[in-house]
Amino acid sequence: MSRIAYVNGRYLPHRHATVHVEDRGFQFADAAYEVIAVKDGDLIDEGLHLRRLARSLGELRITRPMSDAAFGVVMREVIRRNGVDEGIIYVQVSRGAAPRDFAFPRGVRPSVVMTSRRHRGPDPRHARDGVAVITIRDIRWARPDIKSVALLPNALGKQQAKEAGAYEAWQVDPEGRVTEGTSSNAWIITAADEVITRQADHSILNGVTRVGLIDLLAQAGLRLVERPFTVAEAKAAREAFLTSTTNFVLPVVRIDEAPVGEGKPGPVVARLRETYLSYTAEQGIGR
Ligand code: PMP
Repeated sequence: MSRIAYVNGRYLPHRHATVHVEDRGFQFADAAYEVIAVKDGDLIDEGLHLRRLARSLGELRITRPMSDAAFGVVMREVIRRNGVDEGIIYVQVSRGAAPRDFAFPRGVRPSVVMTSRRHRGPDPRHARDGVAVITIRDIRWARPDIKSVALLPNALGKQQAKEAGAYEAWQVDPEGRVTEGTSSNAWIITAADEVITRQADHSILNGVTRVGLIDLLAQAGLRLVERPFTVAEAKAAREAFLTSTTNFVLPVVRIDEAPVGEGKPGPVVARLRETYLSYTAEQGIGR
């Protein structure tokens, strides 16, 4: 089956799916995006993703191109045309195409692009054995809470992790505290069974998985503390993990060269992963 993309009102095979050479997403990364998990042919946490997209666009003063209901219809059509039962849909909205100039153009319509592909979630070995992370300096701009397509620092960080044989890079602020991964949120569990993750201010992207998991913590009998934690604290933690739309909940068992706990996935993260997976499974069934 050839892959189909949605581009500004049309459903096109990928080889014909193009945006204008002066699209501001291409020229300036003047665009916001979302990646939504698809399970049993439907969208997980659609409402939370659309709310975050609206927020990103609002912060960037990009006009919302369509209603949430219309987004829902188009996203489902893209999923259907690509035959995706389990996978992801990618949605990007740029400010639009206009002669190259930093200041906003007037009367330009935002560009909307959507693609979808099959994806079975992370390698099951990652969930079973846990993953390693490295720590790197957070060199991003001051508004990572906006889900913009300006992802160069994230790409550089992920590549550095890959070259170091790690799965993710945890970015660290000038005070030595972890902000988040390059494409995931960072968490630790202390000896006192507190679940710690950085508060969702301007320094991190407020992950939809993060928000979903926070709601489930009380049910799992765990206490949440939203605050920054240092690299040293993370290395001394009992357990650690990361969350994202494509990874759900993944145990982190090594930070730089230091094993976390016993260097293998611990019971609390395993429980959280199961709890989160049932939550997504229930959404699929509920529709
Ligand atoms: N932080 C960053 C920098 C990310 O790119 C992502 C994934 N888009 C996340 C956190 C996790 O967000 P979500 O749970 O919504 O996928």
